[in-house]
Amino acid sequence: MPAARKQAHNNYVLVVFDSCRHDAFLRAKPKTIKRLGKLEKRWSYASWTSPSHYNLLIGLMPHTSPKHVYASEYYKKDFLKFNERLGRDDIEFKSLVPKMFLPSFLRDTLGYRTNAMVSLPVLNPRTILNTGFDTYKLMEKHNDMRAMVRQMSFSEEQPNFFLLNVGETHYPYALPDEPPDQWPRISGVHGVFKHLDDEVVGGKLLVKKEKFFNNRKLAELRQRQVDAVKHLDGVVEELFDTVPKNTYITILADHGELFGEDRYFGHGPIHHDKVWEVPFIEGKLR
Ligand SMILES: [Zn+2]
Repeated sequence: MPAARKQAHNNYVLVVFDSCRHDAFLRAKPKTIKRLGKLEKRWSYASWTSPSHYNLLIGLMPHTSPKHVYASEYYKKDFLKFNERLGRDDIEFKSLVPKMFLPSFLRDTLGYRTNAMVSLPVLNPRTILNTGFDTYKLMEKHNDMRAMVRQMSFSEEQPNFFLLNVGETHYPYALPDEPPDQWPRISGVHGVFKHLDDEVVGGKLLVKKEKFFNNRKLAELRQRQVDAVKHLDGVVEELFDTVPKNTYITILADHGELFGEDRYFGHGPIHHDKVWEVPFIEGKLR
């Protein structure tokens, strides 16, 4: 009975809070998001947006770092989770071969309608990440998840996949109603930020340049990311009200962020625990 089988496929929504480090998420104490399940601390495979999203789109979520396990075994086991996410029992890591790309697999093999809405220009629709998607959109504002939720439409004929790349948690951690002329400025970062060029938001702070390294400012920025998560908790409530019954949702971050620890700021060309630590939570509401 093909109709009955269709019912068994979940919609799947993958929400990426860009740059949201694990402890910022924890400090925000999001109540709505926690309805999804148990909040886990996981580790990102990459320290900046593009490679991290590529990794997510081959189906590998941030990892748990288990000991005494071969990587190949971990991938296989981790990938079996897609059976729970999609409401199936026939998916394994090798199902993705040869393309190794989740949107293509979902669309071409499982018949999903595949959609992406992204906030960061480094993920724009002309990048290679736009593969296997029916729709792929760079949002007008880099920091408005609510606009994404309001544009989501679910096909009743096919199961639906959505990738939402959310920018409120990305530097400068601004909420959509905050006028850009009130956004915080860090000397040396703002200049490159005007193009939201994620690649260069990050690096080691130089102690000599006092203007650049200001503890009070960095604490304020860190708090702004916490506040962004609090705000997003309210937007996620709208997401929960928007999605159809059989929808599985994963919320995570693509990488963390440094707020002055060991004189680092941002993410990208940084090797530090805080750039790898990300929140991970998933589940099906009803
Ligand atoms: Zn990112």
